Amino acid sequence: MTGNRKTSNAILERYLDDMVAHGIRVFEHPKHGGVNASLHIPTSWHPRGGAADLNFGAPGAPKEERAALIWAAKCANALGLNAIYSYWRQHPTAKTRNSHWDHLHVDVGYTLGFPEGKLDWDAYRKLLETPVPGFTRKPKRLRTLRPSTKFNGWVRLWQNFLIEVGLLEKGQADGKNGPITQAATKEYQKRVGLKQTGIVTHKEWFHAAGGVEPGDEGYKVHIAQAILGFGPKGRDGIAGKNYGIRSKELQRWLGVKDDSKLGRVTISNLVKKG
Ligand SMILES: [Zn+2]
Repeated sequence: MTGNRKTSNAILERYLDDMVAHGIRVFEHPKHGGVNASLHIPTSWHPRGGAADLNFGAPGAPKEERAALIWAAKCANALGLNAIYSYWRQHPTAKTRNSHWDHLHVDVGYTLGFPEGKLDWDAYRKLLETPVPGFTRKPKRLRTLRPSTKFNGWVRLWQNFLIEVGLLEKGQADGKNGPITQAATKEYQKRVGLKQTGIVTHKEWFHAAGGVEPGDEGYKVHIAQAILGFGPKGRDGIAGKNYGIRSKELQRWLGVKDDSKLGRVTISNLVKKG
């Protein structure tokens, strides 16, 4: 969209990073997958790094995604960014162009008829701390580890977890799924009531995340973060703010109490439905 600059690219970038951390996908920005100039009007902010499209993909996004994008639009406004989302406020051209029903456009400028909010860090932080309304998160199924799985970072993670729970000795995390590791896996399976196969499936990984709650540290947190879809950089083994947000989203997806604690009920539902 065109118009006069109202705020900085840096604030937009900070906002986009925060949105990504909350599970919202960002497109059409130089630092988020690049810009396809043919999608926008020639004077658009997009190629200049002053706009991005937050998109859940499907036109007529489902209700829970709308709720998440309306939240994201409010966050944008709290930073003085301009936000166009037809489910939130009717954009004058949205109906004819059919372009702002399926995604939220955010930019650094004033646009026609949209002199939006003012920069207010306190209001922004408050919004960021509330879980994304309606947003739910499917768990990721982690790699299955068979005896033939070799030199794999996931094997090492599993071994470090086994060390953490006292089933392997320190120094035994060699990244190879050998007989000692398989025996330890069988011990673990016995402990949590799974079939003793020595093979680590998504079920063993789900169990390994059991008991994690905000403030925890360790390899079980690392595993929980992987299940919650954190990228390699985000998997730091410390259950911080983003862990708190995403674990609630997972619990909403499971239909259990969203308290961020991966307790017995959460884990058993995860094994059943995940
Ligand atoms: Zn746009």
